[in-house]
Amino acid sequence: MNRSEQLFQDAQKHIPGGVNSPVRAFRAVGGTPVFFEKAKGAYIYDADGKQYVDYVQSWGPMVLGHAHPEVIAAVVEKVQHGLSFGAPTEIETTLADELCQIMPGMDLVRFVSSGTEATMSAIRLARGFTGRDTIIKFEGCYHGHSDSLLIKAGSGALTLGVPSSPGVPAALAQHTVTLTYNDIEGVKKAFQEMGDQIACVIAEPVCGNMNCVPPIPGFLETLREECDKSGALLVIDEVMTGFRVSLTGAQGHYGVTADITTLGKVMGGGMPVGAFGGRREVMEHIAPLGPVYQAGTLSGNPVAMAAGLTNLRLVQEEGFYESLSQKTTLLVEGLQDRANAANIPFTTNHVGSMFGFFFTDAPHITNYQQVMDCNIERFNKFFHGMLQEGVYLAPASYEAGFMSAAHTEKDIQFTLDAAEKVFSSL
Ligand code: PMP
Repeated sequence: MNRSEQLFQDAQKHIPGGVNSPVRAFRAVGGTPVFFEKAKGAYIYDADGKQYVDYVQSWGPMVLGHAHPEVIAAVVEKVQHGLSFGAPTEIETTLADELCQIMPGMDLVRFVSSGTEATMSAIRLARGFTGRDTIIKFEGCYHGHSDSLLIKAGSGALTLGVPSSPGVPAALAQHTVTLTYNDIEGVKKAFQEMGDQIACVIAEPVCGNMNCVPPIPGFLETLREECDKSGALLVIDEVMTGFRVSLTGAQGHYGVTADITTLGKVMGGGMPVGAFGGRREVMEHIAPLGPVYQAGTLSGNPVAMAAGLTNLRLVQEEGFYESLSQKTTLLVEGLQDRANAANIPFTTNHVGSMFGFFFTDAPHITNYQQVMDCNIERFNKFFHGMLQEGVYLAPASYEAGFMSAAHTEKDIQFTLDAAEKVFSSL
């Protein structure tokens, strides 16, 4: 038994399923989750000391790579002054000022401690601002696990939503309409039928929770137009894409601006942080300025702010995103070449440093159903083969991969050599 196997056994004694977030349990790919002990740059080390090139990067936040010395130094410095005051600190203002300068359409921003909190609060704000209850989300987009967002589509596109988990009341689910991602006509139809009831549309601007699925041209623009026509708010969930696909997030990349933007993991640089912000008129509805209640004991935590601020300054270095993008292109094109050479039906998607790959005959993957139709068994074999070779990929075929600034061309070549070997064994 290796150490991860032992640790996993021990963990299951008092932690449900041995994990504190379900996808970590390797249920999708089978086998024992790898327990990690430390990480540095592009590499992560398991409990037996084995090194992996890491393309999970804590599910996205580590855009600089793990344990960046300047981020660590900022955190260590801050820790020495106390961990939490539950009162305002100057560093919150500094980070808020910088965020509002960088993010499109952000006049005011409120800090929270997770992506879930950010989207949950954004939805409440949208409902409170518009006085409407219905929200639109898209199949395959994940926005955290608050009740209104843990809803799947009913049997027809415009039927009432169905809870995707026991514990979510059906009475709440009926206020969430779930549509197909990238279905422009479906969006228009929904607005024709119920535009005046819609509080907001929430979308991942590049979906990273059904593998990696970019928006087709016109999709985000349609969301913006339909929201404008009907008085609904557009909530763009940049928890994964913010400071990831470009400095100005997916909104800067695609030129579409939200009324409310949610941010999370990437802006915290690995600390528990989230944020939601947007137009002044909308954000002024939040307490204490307005009637929509939202709060948090640890919100704006000084240590988390220090990590976030340092992270934010480092990603603004000249050429940062260009380099990430180039490396990602090198990786996905290299994977495609090697899959082709092994006669494996395969395609890839990528935007900036987010990428996905699919074992499929389909030339393009643009929605959830197509992702679900891919060859999952083949993915699982590929995942375990790569793990064996020292490459850590997301342990499920419906998750995106992430490049960091710390990955080198040598790391990418190592990954491609491993992939060549694993493809030929499939
Ligand atoms: N929104 C998006 C787009 C996400 O990817 C996630 C997490 N993967 C969340 C919200 C929820 O964030 P958290 O896990 O920090 O609650």
